[in-house]
Amino acid sequence: MKKRTALITGSTSGIGLGIAKAFAAKGYRLVLNGLEPDGAAIAGEVAGRAGVAYLFSAANMLNPEAIRQMVDEAAALFGGIDILINNAGIQHVAPIENFPDEKWYDIIGVNLHAAYHLTKAVWPYMREQQFGRIINIASAHGLVASEFKSAYVAAKHGLVGFTKTAALEGASFNITCNAICPGYVKTPLVEKQMDDQSRAHGIPESEVAAKIMLYKQAVKSFVPVEVIADMALLLAAEGSATITGTAIPLDGGWSAQ
Ligand code: NAD
Repeated sequence: MKKRTALITGSTSGIGLGIAKAFAAKGYRLVLNGLEPDGAAIAGEVAGRAGVAYLFSAANMLNPEAIRQMVDEAAALFGGIDILINNAGIQHVAPIENFPDEKWYDIIGVNLHAAYHLTKAVWPYMREQQFGRIINIASAHGLVASEFKSAYVAAKHGLVGFTKTAALEGASFNITCNAICPGYVKTPLVEKQMDDQSRAHGIPESEVAAKIMLYKQAVKSFVPVEVIADMALLLAAEGSATITGTAIPLDGGWSAQ
């Protein structure tokens, strides 16, 4: 197999970090990104352990110019981008009536607009080489809604729609685009929600996991990061050209109901 390069946004924490480790273990060259203060060190450790070449960028996904610069710098270094994983995401839990406007715009910005800007930036490289795999980390909330998550649900539904359009436009260039829709995964994003969920639903924080998060999943356990990483590896593979335009739930049966 040709050495492939994967750009993963938000890859210095949680799901993105898990995906980065899995791709590193398979020998992919990595472009890592995230806002964690120790992001450069985390990236160095992930790539160093697997002995793969890498680039780290702290590009802010709210800044289209920074996104383009990251993609162009990576393409200049590695000769193109083969796999794009739009993973960076943020959340805020509050009723619509009290939802802070700036949180609404930031959530749509990071979870949806950034995926558009990144896809647009990598597209010429992928079209030129007649190979591209775009994987959007959406959510079960890209398929169904929950109360108090208006911005997030809107962004993730939008991301699923964008995935389908990119799949259609990419088909003749061997560019696929798919969305992975996880249920609850125990990451810093979910840990941070415990408090907001407890306030919004009026229940103690200790009851949030069982009563709110896992309540809708038929399988009552958090989705392991490794399961999402394995799905991303499958979608990124050379032989996965006919898997495109999908929104794949990895949600313990939540969206089956
Ligand atoms: P996380 O908070 O652990 O990681 C998010 C990453 O995104 C971090 O590296 C952070 O620095 C980065 N990020 C946030 N804002 C950014 C910005 N403006 N610019 C650049 N990077 C930015 O969260 P996670 O749980 O690993 O979530 C990853 C993705 O998975 C998100 O898109 C999230 O919506 C989705 N998801 C998570 C769950 C879950 O239960 N954890 C479920 C379904 C979908």
